[in-house]
Amino acid sequence: MAHVQLRDVVKSYGKLEVVHSINLEIAEGEFVVLVGPSGCGKSTTLRMIAGLEDISGGEISIGDRVVNDLPPRDRNISMVFQNYALYPHMTVRENLGFSLKIAKRPASEINAAVDAAAEILSLTPLLDRKPGALSGGQRQRVAMGRAIVRHPDVFLFDEPLSNLDAKLRTQMRVEIKKLHQKVTSTIVYVTHDQVEAMTLADRIVIMRDGHIEQIGTPLDVFENPINTFVATFIGSPPMNLLDGRIEGGQVVLEGGDILPIPPGYSAQEGRLVTFGVRADNIMPVGHALPPSEHMAEIEMGVNLTEPLGTETLLFAELAGREVQAKMLNPRPVQMGERMTFQITLDKCHLFDRESGLALKG
Ligand code: ADP
Ligand code: MG
Repeated sequence: MAHVQLRDVVKSYGKLEVVHSINLEIAEGEFVVLVGPSGCGKSTTLRMIAGLEDISGGEISIGDRVVNDLPPRDRNISMVFQNYALYPHMTVRENLGFSLKIAKRPASEINAAVDAAAEILSLTPLLDRKPGALSGGQRQRVAMGRAIVRHPDVFLFDEPLSNLDAKLRTQMRVEIKKLHQKVTSTIVYVTHDQVEAMTLADRIVIMRDGHIEQIGTPLDVFENPINTFVATFIGSPPMNLLDGRIEGGQVVLEGGDILPIPPGYSAQEGRLVTFGVRADNIMPVGHALPPSEHMAEIEMGVNLTEPLGTETLLFAELAGREVQAKMLNPRPVQMGERMTFQITLDKCHLFDRESGLALKG
């Protein structure tokens, strides 16, 4: 186990800088997930930690060692990729032990490490099988097992579940979480899937265009997004963003509806703002959670419904904009039906329209 630290880490390919001075401290045993849209620099960052890419500036340490110039094999890390390749002609046991065999470890040590990894990953009954006789999820567990046998200080995962179907992905997510509870190693995990990030991480690092936008616990980034990018990237469905302007100490939305400034936010008169509300916090009256202290009401027409069982997702319209809302204890809704919605203001957000930054204060 070891902590990992990135100080002003930069990566350029030729003249093109793709990672811009990243700072990140990962505690020993922590599970940190780098998440962001495709191309934002997640894999590059992970590969710099692994030593598979040179860094163009800054410093990376693992434990107490600066590893900038250390080759991958000397960093005591294990990496699991999306496209893990198992050796098809070897059994699970041989696949698991291969890296230790290459390192010329004694057979007794290899066997003990393989048995322990197989136990952790429930692979014991499969040790004599070849990869061709395994399911996708079992193969992925073998790929993780290969990483475990080496007792690395740090596990690095790059989208390890992206090739699996949705159901298997959900199962493997749970397996990875259990794995972390058992091995308690430091994990840096890359994904573009915000649900995966939310469910796995102790802390999430949200990246965009080679920058870190926000770092925090899953709940923290969900409840206190620093800007509209994080607000819409984290959470499903994405947060509704409604443009408006501060007039008379209130938010006058485009189209003329008026909402109070949410508690905890402030903005000067005349400022162009964006009001943020998640579907969970805008519900039709009579089909909502019990009201809290700070509520507002708004009327909208409903254009489409998506019944999900215990709740229904409503697609409503406000001043030409689509707004997604939730309906608890659903009843049938007529298309175009106008409904009064209650908004839980305590859970709403206010952003500067130009910069996108949260107007906390
Ligand atoms: P992510 O993993 O978040 O999808 P990457 O880290 O793979 O993103 O890539 C970040 C950026 O760096 C992208 O714009 C990508 O095109 C660029 N990039 C990655 N590898 C190279 C390379 N070998 N040469 C030039 N540009 C690269
Ligand atoms: Mg990638």
